[in-house]
Amino acid sequence: MKHKLIFALIANVSFAQISLSTVDQTIQSLSEKNTINSHLTPAILEFLKNKSQNQSLYYDQFQRRKDAQGLDRIYDFEHFRIHYTIDGNHAINPIDLNNNSIPDYIDSLSAIIKNTSYHFHKQLSYSLPPSDGFYNPGMNNGGSGHYDIYLRSISSNYYGFTYPEVPAQNNGNNENSNDLKENFAYATYLVLRNNYNGFPGTEIENLKVTFAHEYFHSIQFGYNAFEKRWLLESSAVWAEEQVYDDINDCYQFLPNWFKYPHYSLDESGTLREYGTFIFFEYISENIADPSIVRDIFTKSAITSNNTHDQSHRVIDDALRPYGKSFQKALNEMSIANKILSSSNSLQSYRYPEADQYPINGPTIYKNVDYIKGNKLTVSSNQLKRFASQYIEINTISPIFIELNNKNGPIDDMQLNTILHKTDGSYFIISNPSINVDPKDIKSISLSIVSQDTIGKEWDFEINIQDGVPGIAATFPTEFTLKNAYPNPFNSTVQFYINVLKPTLIDIYIINTLGKRVKNIYKGNIETGSQKLLWNGKSNKNDKISSGVYYIIAKGNYTEERIPVTLIK
Ligand SMILES: [Zn+2]
Repeated sequence: MKHKLIFALIANVSFAQISLSTVDQTIQSLSEKNTINSHLTPAILEFLKNKSQNQSLYYDQFQRRKDAQGLDRIYDFEHFRIHYTIDGNHAINPIDLNNNSIPDYIDSLSAIIKNTSYHFHKQLSYSLPPSDGFYNPGMNNGGSGHYDIYLRSISSNYYGFTYPEVPAQNNGNNENSNDLKENFAYATYLVLRNNYNGFPGTEIENLKVTFAHEYFHSIQFGYNAFEKRWLLESSAVWAEEQVYDDINDCYQFLPNWFKYPHYSLDESGTLREYGTFIFFEYISENIADPSIVRDIFTKSAITSNNTHDQSHRVIDDALRPYGKSFQKALNEMSIANKILSSSNSLQSYRYPEADQYPINGPTIYKNVDYIKGNKLTVSSNQLKRFASQYIEINTISPIFIELNNKNGPIDDMQLNTILHKTDGSYFIISNPSINVDPKDIKSISLSIVSQDTIGKEWDFEINIQDGVPGIAATFPTEFTLKNAYPNPFNSTVQFYINVLKPTLIDIYIINTLGKRVKNIYKGNIETGSQKLLWNGKSNKNDKISSGVYYIIAKGNYTEERIPVTLIK
């Protein structure tokens, strides 16, 4: 649907500063604010976290599940119980066209719930959310161990919410997960509106996306209610797409997300975390399959910890069996976001619905023209962690491009060069430096990704200078040789190899006839600068005659040489 569903309204407030004891009060205090910022479930979760830092029960004994009040009817099916009424201000539309003694609103909703539940539990094999059957008699659990859904007239414009109530089984372990021992699983209930009058879209569409999103939260909370908010929200939006692929509520978040590619993937508390569903779309379509998100929450349940941010680690853990890492996935998504195509020919860089997305690509940070003989530098101090910045280069002569991380190790960042060829295909090289001959190339785009967190900031420079001609020259540069000194030399010459990517490198000396006279080193060299020496002797340790020699370093793609002159 093309209209915009805006998931509930919450002002930009810090929950630590608010002392409220009920959800209704929370909603009321926030619904007066005008800033559209977020929706209710994460707000309740933040509230819960702030309230129970020591894992003590969060259940307001005086509250007694206030969301149940005034709802005098129930409808049970599978593991669900819908609570509703046809009287008073929480009444649903009582119309019953099919004469089955159940209002059509409940018939429609239960069909949506069954479909969603089938999708999550049967097709994607998520554990059921923890039951509230263990509650002691003083606590309202809806009258049974069923999963409770309350239909009410919720304040303001909220679509619905999931309420994490108490740790599952009082110990945080979800009894519905087979082999998993959770520590922070929470029993929850769910609240939907008694009608969606005045909301954009049809009532059915609103029920579909709201239930899929909120019920996915209840499933997540059955794994680890203390997982990071960005991961909970972005994957809940992704989950809507899994069940109701044709509604496309998620598209509304893309324009803003792609406008600021240099903002962190894990930015939280803004609408960006909803647009971050694109990351899960990327990994579930191109690296793994939709089960990857369940794997992430399984890892989250195992690794869970309510003090440290493990969100990137659990994603990394889940990607390992696919031979990928969080960093690799981040880089690949960055490339796919630039290409932004649905074409099957792109294999691992496509999004099935990219051609329908309401965007053309990410914001280009700089578009530069390179003129032969003129070195060019593009600098940025805007890139945040786990984010991308894009540069486009126009040139008709060969160029050599090099990434320089100004405030940290080169491994903290990655340069991805995206070459769009005139035949329509793409050639992608991920390496801190690259030589490009623009022959047969339509466009040269760079994505610079802050892929690691050794540093605290990701200020960088892209240096562009004249490169080597020839299509074969379009290879990653693995290292450079530098600074032979003294030169000419009499007894020993020193030189440096600057390795950009750990590689097997053969370093040796040849004479002007191309004959190898001395082996210096052969083996893997780690990233960084290494000092090497040549004492002017041959492999047999004989002194050799005066003249010009070449220091050669040979890797998989790169060969570098510097002439040195030996003087007796
Ligand atoms: Zn949510």
